[in-house]
Parts: sequence; structure tokens; C-alpha cells
Amino acid sequence: MALRINDSEFYAIDAHSHLGRRKTPLGHGVASFLGDDLVHNLDEAGLDCAVAFPLGASCTDYSEANQIMADEMAKHPKRIISFCRINPNFGPQATANSLDHCLGTLKLRGIKLHPEIEFFDPNDAELMEPIYDAARRYHVPIIFHTGMSSKASPGVIAELAAQHKDVPVILGHMGVSEYVKLAVAVARQNDNIFLETSVVGWMPLLLEAFRGVGTSKILFGSDHPYNPLAMEVEKIAKHVTKAAKLTEDDLKKVLAGNLLSILKHDGAT
Ligand SMILES: [Zn+2]
Repeated sequence: MALRINDSEFYAIDAHSHLGRRKTPLGHGVASFLGDDLVHNLDEAGLDCAVAFPLGASCTDYSEANQIMADEMAKHPKRIISFCRINPNFGPQATANSLDHCLGTLKLRGIKLHPEIEFFDPNDAELMEPIYDAARRYHVPIIFHTGMSSKASPGVIAELAAQHKDVPVILGHMGVSEYVKLAVAVARQNDNIFLETSVVGWMPLLLEAFRGVGTSKILFGSDHPYNPLAMEVEKIAKHVTKAAKLTEDDLKKVLAGNLLSILKHDGAT
């Protein structure tokens, strides 16, 4: 099921996908998207594995959704790497308890945060300290949604990320459009900040990121099922590969190697 690019086969992991059940359907009519659905689509797209976290929902502490993530990873241990999703607005103690449960008991492999949907400031030290602390103690990365809102600006996120150099921080969507330049700047300034490729769709900005930070700090992601996997795969495998003249070694890093090094940080991969 390997991904073929220019006559070579690659082991490929999607660093950004979602699973879960919602009361209201997603934009393209999906209310439920679980592990079997994701694995089916990974097979179709030629991908080996995906990092997944809960679908977004405001006003929840994600406890049910995080349990689903653990259940789906247990069903597909070689195909799904589940992260938990946290709503920091329940307060520092609730956040710390939830993270001990998700990372310690459920053995989820990372933390997803969305400053706009969960509506918090990612530079609010009181709300964020238990999250960075748990990420450091459990040796897992944090992935932030970035872009589309000043709350989710890479510059705001970098204020605390820069003070926690031992915690890998992934900027999901690398700022989408208006914040891509800032995402590139903070990733250049901080060894622990990485960029993820989903959603950003203007080639000059993608090329600026690949040239600006290099292929050792970029992770392929899709934001599936919001975006079709094939669309996001083709963007990197065909168009960026050609425009940025990516080598086989570059592709190995972007499609899996960089993410595996970040996860190896916990000694579990
Ligand atoms: Zn997403």
C-alpha cells in the first residue's frame, strides 16, 4: 500500500486527521468517521498510517471523544496514532487530570489544541502550563491548529513554545495563508517548532515554507476527513515535489521520518 512518487515507494504517515462522532454532520455530510473509515481511506490513498485526534466541538472537555481515540487506536494499532484533544477552559487542574488520564492511562501519543474552536489564548501561561508540563513529562508533541484567527497565530503560540524547548510543537496548517510567513519565521527561530502541510493551498507560500525551514521541519498532513486525502497527497507528492525539487531523502523526511523522530522522543516508536 506504499505511496509511489517518481518510481520510488515511500512509507507515508498523515500527521493530521480526525475521528469521532458528532450530532451534526461535517461540511460534506459526515457525522461519524471512525477508525475503519480512516483505514479504508488510507488504503485508497496509499498511506500507511495516520495521526488522528477528535473532531472539533466547542463546550466539551473531549473526555468521551478521547476515549473513542484510544478505542480506535487499539483496533488499528499499526494504522492509527491517536492524540487527545484538550479544552483548557475547564481550568488547570481539570487539564492536568485529563492529560494524566489520556497520556498515562489511555497511552495517547500527543495533544491537539484548537485556540479558535476551544476559544483560549495559547499564550495564557496559567491555562497552558499544565499542557506543556504533561507534554514534557509524557514525552509527547503538541499540535496546534493555526491560522484563520488571531488567537491561532503562530506568533502567539510561539511565545510559550519558545520557553518549552524540550516540547515538540507542530503548527497545523502552517498558518493556512495569512500566517504562513509568521509560521516560517517562528519555526526558523525555534528548534522545537515544526510545520504541517494541510490546508495551505497557495504554491508560493508552500515553497516559501519548504525553502525557509527545510524539509527536516515539515510534516505532511491532510486534515482528513475535512479535506480529501487524495487532494492533500497530490499537493505534496506531485506538485510540491516538482516545484521544490524534493529529493527522495526530502520526501522520506516529510512523509514519515520527521514525525517518527518527534514521536520517538517518547521512546515508544
Ligand atoms: Zn484538523
